[in-house]
Amino acid sequence: MHYPLKLTYNPMKYYIIAMLVFTSVASSSAQKAAIQKQNTVEDYAATITSKELKEMLYIYAGDDMRGRMTGSKGQKLAVNYLKDFYIAQGIKSPLGGDNYFQKVPAEYLTRLKEPADSENVVAFIQGSEFPEEIIVLSAHLDHVGVDDKGNVFNGADDDGSGTVAMLEMAEAFQRAVKEGNGPKRSILFLHVTGEEIGLYGSRYYTENPIFPLANTVCNLNTDMIGRIDPDKADTPNYIYLIGSDKLSQELHDVSAQVAKTYSDLEIDYTYNDENDPNRFYYRSDHYNFAKNNIPVIFYFNGVHEDYHKISDTPDKIAYDLMEKRTKLIFHTAWEIANREKRITADKL
Ligand SMILES: [Zn+2]
Repeated sequence: MHYPLKLTYNPMKYYIIAMLVFTSVASSSAQKAAIQKQNTVEDYAATITSKELKEMLYIYAGDDMRGRMTGSKGQKLAVNYLKDFYIAQGIKSPLGGDNYFQKVPAEYLTRLKEPADSENVVAFIQGSEFPEEIIVLSAHLDHVGVDDKGNVFNGADDDGSGTVAMLEMAEAFQRAVKEGNGPKRSILFLHVTGEEIGLYGSRYYTENPIFPLANTVCNLNTDMIGRIDPDKADTPNYIYLIGSDKLSQELHDVSAQVAKTYSDLEIDYTYNDENDPNRFYYRSDHYNFAKNNIPVIFYFNGVHEDYHKISDTPDKIAYDLMEKRTKLIFHTAWEIANREKRITADKL
C-alpha cells in the first residue's frame, strides 16, 4: 500500500507518523479478521466473472485446439490446459501426484474412426466434515474436430462454456478452502472425454469410478450454458434445468430454493418433460450417473443456429448471462456440499 503523505518538517511530524502507522496496522488486521469471519458463499460466487470466463474460453475454444476431437492432438492440448489450470490453483488430483488423467483406452472408444487412447481430467477438493461423500461436477472436454476442408469446430458453447464454468467454480471453491471455509463434502471436478461420439468418458467413469458410486451424492452436469435459444430471444434471462426431480425430490427442492435465494434467472423446466421429443435427459453425461441411480441436474441453454456448426465460436457467447448461470450452479453445489444432511435419491 502506498503511503500518500509528504510531510515537511513539523514538530507534529513524528506524532502524525506514529498515529498513521498505528491506524494503518489496526485497520489492516481488522480487515484480515473481517475477511476470515465475513466471507460468505456470495463473496466466493463473486469471484466468478464474465471477464475470466471469456479469457479462458477464447483459449479453450480457440483454433489451436483443432475442435478437440476425442483422441486427437487438439484434445491433448485441451486436457493439458485443464491440468495446468488445476496445478496453478493448487487443486490436487484424486489419482495422486501430477496424474490428472483417467485414461480411457482406445478399445473402449468403439465409435472412434481413428483408434486412439483418450482421457478424462479429474481434480478434487476434499470435504472437511464428510470427505467420503462426493459431489461430481462435470462437463465434456471434447468436441467434433475439423471438417474435410480443415475448418475448425470451435465448440465454444458445446462444451467450452461448461468447461470454463467448471474452472471458475473450482477456483471459487479453492479460495474458500484457503480461507478456512472449504466445503463439508468433497467435490470431484470431472472433465469427460468422448461425449460427442456417445457419452463414452462419463460411461467409463461410472464403470470405473475413482470414488464408490454409493458415496456419490449427485452429479451437476453443465453442457452448453453460453448461448440463447431463439425461442427465448425476448426473455433471455433463463436457464433450462433437466432431471432435477427424476430421482430426488429433495435435490429438486434444494435446487429451486437456491435459485430463488441467489439468482434472478428464470428456471425453465420445459425440457424436463418426459414427453419432450428432444429427449435431452438422455443426451449428455449426467445420464450415465442417473442410470446408476445417482441424482442429477443438467444445466443447458437449449440448441441454436450454430449448434454443431463451425460457427459455434467464442464471440457469439453471452458472457454476462453465462456468468449468472455459472454462479447458479456454484451456489447449488455449495449448498449440497455444506447442508447438514446428505441429499438422497428419495424417489427410487
Ligand atoms: Zn455436442
